[in-house]
Amino acid sequence: MATKPFDIAIVGGGITGLTLAISLLKHNIPVTIYEAASNFGEIGAGVGFGPNAARAVELVSPEFQEAFGRCLTKQHKDKHDVWFSVRVGDQRRGGEDGVVKKQGDKTLKLGDIIFEVHFSDDREWGSVHRAHFLDELVKLIPKSVARFGKRLADISKEDGTDNAVLHFTDGTTAKHSVVLGCDGIKSRTRELLLKDDNMKAVFTGKYVYRGLIPMDKAIEILGEEQATNSQMYLGYNGHILTYPIEKGKTMNIVAFSSQDTWTESEWVVHASKDKLREDYRSWGPRITALVSAMEKPDIWALYNHPPAPTYYGLNPRICLVGDAAHASTPHQGSGAGMCIEDCYILSNLIAEANSLEDVDRVFKAYDEVRRPRTHKLVTTSKEAAMLYEFELEGDDLDAIEQNMTNRMRWIWDIDTVAELERAKTIYRGLA
Ligand SMILES: Cc1cc2nc3c(=O)[nH]c(=O)nc-3n(C[C@H](O)[C@H](O)[C@H](O)COP(=O)(O)OP(=O)(O)OC[C@H]3O[C@@H](n4cnc5c(N)ncnc54)[C@H](O)[C@@H]3O)c2cc1C
Repeated sequence: MATKPFDIAIVGGGITGLTLAISLLKHNIPVTIYEAASNFGEIGAGVGFGPNAARAVELVSPEFQEAFGRCLTKQHKDKHDVWFSVRVGDQRRGGEDGVVKKQGDKTLKLGDIIFEVHFSDDREWGSVHRAHFLDELVKLIPKSVARFGKRLADISKEDGTDNAVLHFTDGTTAKHSVVLGCDGIKSRTRELLLKDDNMKAVFTGKYVYRGLIPMDKAIEILGEEQATNSQMYLGYNGHILTYPIEKGKTMNIVAFSSQDTWTESEWVVHASKDKLREDYRSWGPRITALVSAMEKPDIWALYNHPPAPTYYGLNPRICLVGDAAHASTPHQGSGAGMCIEDCYILSNLIAEANSLEDVDRVFKAYDEVRRPRTHKLVTTSKEAAMLYEFELEGDDLDAIEQNMTNRMRWIWDIDTVAELERAKTIYRGLA
């Protein structure tokens, strides 16, 4: 039943599209999702959610939080406030004797914990298996809402009305008064809105091997404590993260490396074991064993978006959400969390709108509140990789520790409810 004098198309059914649909449906606002693929799907890797992301999940709806809870893997109780235990993985930093740092009368060697990055309090956080999380989200969406095999090609404006006409590559069209572009880093909606090739995603000089290791195998290599909690191994022009997913049955591993340019047309390519071993040749036997144990690793080229001058347009009404607006590198583990924050703020603003003119003000308020925060993530995230890979503070472990201790606070400690109130104040002030 129409509850608003406008109707909404969501382009893309990834974490953002589905979260946005769930958030809007909770407010009884009907939506139609147009997804290019033949079904909803995610890859079988892990995704970490910091306290801000877990809070945004909680705010979206109780059902959404339950779905998240069914997938959430937490650390051991005594490590619950530790984001990552940071170790040096690259043998070259240790020299002959493997000593990387002297701390009082303690000698820290390659592979030892150098420091830990703690959350400010004991809030919920953890990681999920992407595909399982998406499956849980799909259960919260009525089947009638989704249209599959609909790859957006163009958007035009219908003569004499406020409608946007969505044109799909299969030759079909659909009319809606509002288009929310949730079509990810290669977003067609973004291209159509910004009309600027300089706004396309750019290669960041980093790529990553993603893979999974059965936890038994990971424990054999690393020992239980190390395998079942989050670890970050630092090195020259590379770093490695490991953390448990699937309630501890599997260890997710993401191994980063660097190169100046990306020449392949695909951004995800099959990884050869030889290249993998070559990239971590100087990282010592444990890391060699770890990367060799990755099941079917892929290489992902890491791209990010230049800062968009706006996230919306009014003729026709289009707004970018999630990675379509601000795709970032994963180095602060916060891209998906930002997507969920976007959805919470935007859906609650749309719930206040009772006309298309109100939607214009919603877009403006959303843009004003979300653009600075999400752009900051893109910039600081790229810088974070340089920090972990001895390119920002060199291999000075004290300077790295000092930098890492507080660099995530602005992400984790946001008061998302206050952010929504700020957005609503802007929205109302624009009347
Ligand atoms: C290696 C890596 C690790 C990461 N780790 C983390 C992490 O630990 N924590 C975290 O918070 N974030 C992480 N991220 C970021 C996170 O994955 C993204 O922010 C998030 O998945 C983006 O979701 P999305 O729905 O906006 O986009 P996507 O997941 O890209 O979904 C877009 C959807 O739109 C569809 N689509 C595309 N084009 C069209 C079209 N023209 N028409 C119709 N449909 C279309 C696609 O098929 C897809 O279903 C990581 C990213 C990478 C690359």
